[in-house]
Amino acid sequence: MQLLQPLATKKPVLLSKKAALAAFFLFDRMDPMSHQVPAQSEASPSPVWAGLRGRCPHCGKGHLFAGFVEVAPSCDVCGQDFSKADSGDGPVIFIIMLASLIVLGSMLVIDTVYSPPMWLQMVIWMPVMTGIVLGMMRPFKGVLITLQFHHKAGQGKQADAAHKPDQDVSA
Ligand SMILES: [Zn+2]
Repeated sequence: MQLLQPLATKKPVLLSKKAALAAFFLFDRMDPMSHQVPAQSEASPSPVWAGLRGRCPHCGKGHLFAGFVEVAPSCDVCGQDFSKADSGDGPVIFIIMLASLIVLGSMLVIDTVYSPPMWLQMVIWMPVMTGIVLGMMRPFKGVLITLQFHHKAGQGKQADAAHKPDQDVSA
């Protein structure tokens, strides 16, 4: 904000809009962080670590999942409501891309080096692919949901934004 001040005073007419726009983006980006980080860092664990272990994004102790990839209705320790948690198709896209990269890359290398028959490649890689996808499903979904909670993404954030005071355009 203070960095923008000298720029704005030199050419007030031309730069004031740019400065206001920059201030808007800065404010928009920094404001939620300044409220969020101190409030959450007391109790809540790292969202990535909690997500990888399938733990509650709020307390880090309760279970996030009720089934293999089925999200529990609420935390069994702190009671955090998970009903709004929805990672959608997010994890699947990541996993398919990553697993394909790993498997296709390995297939190409092995084919070049050992040139085994295609059926052998299939026998090797189909279970590997399945294993990677199933193995990554839960941690990926967990991380996406805990990040969603950490950044208050989704409907909750849009509702908050509507209640925010006017953006600081005076700079
Ligand atoms: Zn909890």
